[in-house]
Order: sequence, then structure tokens, then C-alpha cells
Amino acid sequence: MASRGDAEDVEALREIVGQLRTNLEARGRSGLVGVAMGKTPRQAAAASVPPAAWAPQGAAAPAAPVVAAAPVGQQDNADQPDDGEGAPVEKARTGKAGLQVLRDEIGDCKRCKLAPTRTNLVYGVGNPDADLVFVGEAPGADEDAQGEPFVGKAGQLLTKMIEAMGYTRNDVYICNVLKCRPPGNRNPEPDEVASCEPFLKRQLAAIRPRMIVALGKFAAQCLLRDDTPITRLRGGFRSYEGIPLMPTLHPAYLLRDPSKKKLAWDDLKAVNAALARVGIHPPRPPAG
Ligand code: URA
Repeated sequence: MASRGDAEDVEALREIVGQLRTNLEARGRSGLVGVAMGKTPRQAAAASVPPAAWAPQGAAAPAAPVVAAAPVGQQDNADQPDDGEGAPVEKARTGKAGLQVLRDEIGDCKRCKLAPTRTNLVYGVGNPDADLVFVGEAPGADEDAQGEPFVGKAGQLLTKMIEAMGYTRNDVYICNVLKCRPPGNRNPEPDEVASCEPFLKRQLAAIRPRMIVALGKFAAQCLLRDDTPITRLRGGFRSYEGIPLMPTLHPAYLLRDPSKKKLAWDDLKAVNAALARVGIHPPRPPAG
């Protein structure tokens, strides 16, 4: 008879296989696999690009350094498998079907202490096959009430940022590290992250994006396992399981300090530029 230890081993193995799959698929699909790890910046074309409509007007500072999508030793993508169309079992784990399987598994989640105080579990929204995924921290009051991420004031700003990049919310995928609102919008606690983060990882494994934007300190530090302040993390590409990840400032922070919008816009332009280098362009022309 299988023991509890066996079950935990199987679960741990499943997690490792999922991570390996995400990594290999991202490498196989992406010319960005060699994105530099944030330490060898190439200056973006400076000052000439005006900020997007949502950004503060008249900001004339040079664009923040954009990290080049350059091969880096251990991140070589030679001999990576083609992800092809995949076997049926693979398809069931990815895209819309994969997200639905995971959503069903999460169910009416009671795995952590946030369950009794939430109204709605906020899973994620957008294109299940998105090239670009935005990851925030946790639902706030509006998100909790509506069951959709980033629909409050910060969400409205995020929507404008996405649109300034040339996308809509339906083109990209938006989710959070935590699926339930921490009471009073307090910071997520470690046990809550431990319960919920595996679901974020599996969402990302199902979507297999070409790029991730981590919104704010919490998402960036959590996905990167790096407690460097967001003010230093932002603006340079990092790697999340082989997928290029751009840490940037959280829209709620930008609402509190609009003078920082220019920095976030620089980060998003760097994302568009890196995607363009592998032939991915937004459906509409970006602002600025
Ligand atoms: N802030 C977040 O991090 N996520 C949301 O969904 C809303 C606000």
C-alpha cells in the first residue's frame, strides 16, 4: 500500500517534472532563452521615445538600461526539443485545457487560512496561450468581489499599461501569486505563499508564455527567489525556469508615486523590444 511519504514523493516528482517541462519548452520555443541575467545592460535608445499616455508627460530622462537578449553560457538552447503539437496528454496539461484542469483541482480551495475571509477565489484571466503573462501579488477588495485579477484602481492602470504596449487584457494572461485576498490587503504570509505558489507555477507551465512581467516586489522576489529590492530588480531581464522575466514596479505603487511611471514604461518597452527580437509583435502599435 502506498504510504503518505510515497504520495509526497510522487507529488514532489510531479512538480520537478513540471518545472523541467516548462524550462525545456520555453527553451525550445524561444529565441530568448539566453537572456542575460540582468548584469550586462545595453543602453536602450535614450530620451527620444516619449512616454505612453498613462505615463507622466514630459519625462525626458533616458530610458532605463535594457538587458540584451544575448546567449549566456549555461542557458544555451542548442539541441532543445521542438514542442511540436504534442501528444494528447501533453495538450491536456497546457493552454485552455491545462488551465481548466488546474482550476478544477483547486476547486473551492480551503488549503490555507485565507479561505474563510475571501469572497471569490481569483484564478486568472486572459489568453490561455498568451505569449505574455503579468503576475501580481494578491487580489484586493475589488478583485475579491469580482473574482477577476486587477480590476480595481491599480488594475485599471495595469490595463492602460498593457494597452500602451499594443495589447488588450484578452491578448495576455493576468494572475497573482496568491489566489485569495489577504484580509485588509496585508502582505501575503509565508504559509499562504507555500500553499498557493505551486498553482501559479502550474498556471505558468500550462500557458508556457514567452515572457513574464512580475508586477512589484512580491511577485518578482517570489518567482526569482531573490530578495533584492524591486527598485534594483526592475529593468533587467531575469530567468524564471528558462522564461525571460522582467521585474517592474507594481501599478499600485505607481498610483502612489506617478513620477515612477516612466521607469515602468521603460521596462515594458524593453519587454516589447525583446519579444520583437523573436518575431512577436503586439496586435496594435504600441504607444510612443
Ligand atoms: N494587486 C495585485 O497584486 N493583484 C491584483 O489582482 C490587484 C491588485
